[in-house]
Amino acid sequence: MHTQPDHAGGLLATGGPTFPRGVALLANSLLNKGTAFTEAERDALGLRGLLPPRVFTIEEQLFRVYGNFSRKTDPLEKYIFLTTLQNRNETLFYRLVQEHAEEMIPIIYTPTVGQACLEYGAIFRKPRGMFISIRERGRIAEILRSWPISDVRMIVVTDGERILGLGDLGALGMGIPVGKLSLYTACAGLHPYYTLPITLDVGTDNLKLHEDPLYIGLKQKRVRGAEYDAFLAEFVDAVQKAYPKALLQWEDFGNTNAFRLLHDYREKILSFNDDIQGTASVALAGIIAGLRLTGGKLSEQKLLFLGAGEAGTGIADLFVAAARKEGLSEAAARARCWFVDSQGLVVRGRPGKLAAHKEPYAHEHPVVATLAEAVEAVKPTALIGVSGQARAFTQSIITRMAALNQRPIVFALSNPTSKAECTAEEAYRWSDGRVVFASGSPFPTVTLNGRTFVPGQGNNVYIFPGVGLGALVSESTQVTDGMFLTAAETLASLVSEDDLALGRIYPALSKIREVSLKIATAVAAQAHREGLARVPRPADLEGDIRSRMFEPVYRSYV
Ligand code: NAD
Repeated sequence: MHTQPDHAGGLLATGGPTFPRGVALLANSLLNKGTAFTEAERDALGLRGLLPPRVFTIEEQLFRVYGNFSRKTDPLEKYIFLTTLQNRNETLFYRLVQEHAEEMIPIIYTPTVGQACLEYGAIFRKPRGMFISIRERGRIAEILRSWPISDVRMIVVTDGERILGLGDLGALGMGIPVGKLSLYTACAGLHPYYTLPITLDVGTDNLKLHEDPLYIGLKQKRVRGAEYDAFLAEFVDAVQKAYPKALLQWEDFGNTNAFRLLHDYREKILSFNDDIQGTASVALAGIIAGLRLTGGKLSEQKLLFLGAGEAGTGIADLFVAAARKEGLSEAAARARCWFVDSQGLVVRGRPGKLAAHKEPYAHEHPVVATLAEAVEAVKPTALIGVSGQARAFTQSIITRMAALNQRPIVFALSNPTSKAECTAEEAYRWSDGRVVFASGSPFPTVTLNGRTFVPGQGNNVYIFPGVGLGALVSESTQVTDGMFLTAAETLASLVSEDDLALGRIYPALSKIREVSLKIATAVAAQAHREGLARVPRPADLEGDIRSRMFEPVYRSYV
């Protein structure tokens, strides 16, 4: 995998027979430079007359696009603007995103991407990525051949059943694979050439979409059961044959399919589920960094989760792995994780059937109905919201956490902002500023009694780009729990004392490329340690990875 993937005869091979000219070059977002094509390039590549005469530098173009971006006041309008730029000139798009990471990431991903998905049909302009529908069963290999790039390395795929905390959005969920892959490039320097967003459209059970005249997907109920499984199996097989080195990232599948798909494929193909494993890693990193404020060891923590889905049980599973590393038995580590779901505390013998992923955390305990009672019963050191239930952490619950702990850990991770279990301001205010807080979506700085707190955002973007890059550069055959654990430890180690002084348990997003590089290095090293790498380990692993990272600068084509 190179910094610039100019494979002989490939799309990007300057001067090669397939290198586009004229309007075709302007229409190719990977190659287009717009007004920055030089005089020599304009002559050599048939661009004379197709562009205004003045040649701009990328800095001058940035001044223009950032100005246009800033004039838009509505986040969704900003999203549309950025998407259009991305489809026109990816180098400029990534340069803009990279230079203003803290401002842009909340637009290209959460929280704005949630709104963009809800309105994906209404704001649809140009397709990006591939849509493969259940009607195309039996033809997936043929369909993948329509993609213009033969060396895809990173696929993010969704079936749109559980988009963020917004539920079943069917084909509108495409905003998520598109956004995640943009983050791979912006945050970890994965060349956009290697990336392919895919939506598998098996229908939607969101009946409002069946009525929506602007809906872009199949207006039918979701296909489930054997037909769904066969469709997914055909898809995985076709991807492996077309792109044998690709990493497949499962994204925003409904939780019955998400756990099954991860379980069925994680040892067969290079794949992971960011909602389960990436979330786990970023949340665990927050807890590890938070311990520098609270004191105590990881294995001494008692976690109470609101929400026992992909995020919650994923975090608990990784916590168990980390606590075992500190010497706890698996049973003892699991006993430190408790869950409240929509039926109350998850306990053994509770009426109704428990989903398989909750079983390991169903402890012996009398039935408890509410979160407030569960806090009393469990006396947690950390309360973690992953339920999609807005405002579930009430004043009395936070106050109680603050009475039980000198420095309570409270994470309100549900996205988007409207679904957060509490706001940053509430958490700080109700705990007299003692809370160690993180949220899924960003909250503004909070000032309380003259002190300033910068709430940390437990954004998966800290983890998955580095993990993916590390797995790809080492050509690992799998993505393991050990890799997510080392990613969490690495991320926590990058939180500075200055960050902690502001209450922030994650590094500033402006450092994201350096964070991703360090995580990629740790993950690749882990792949080599676990014997999963398919390439020899370079002497200078970090230097080697750094040299492969895509930089959004214009290359000369003549
Ligand atoms: P999921 O659908 O797999 O799980 C949701 C869980 O919440 C289920 O166990 C459900 O029973 C439970 N729940 C629903 N209503 C409840 C109620 N009234 N009381 C208690 N529990 C209730 O979803 P998920 O993937 O686990 O994601 C959950 C939330 O976490 C989403 O809002 C998502 O945006 C957020 N999330 C945040 C991050 C992050 O911040 N980095 C990452 C992943 C997910």
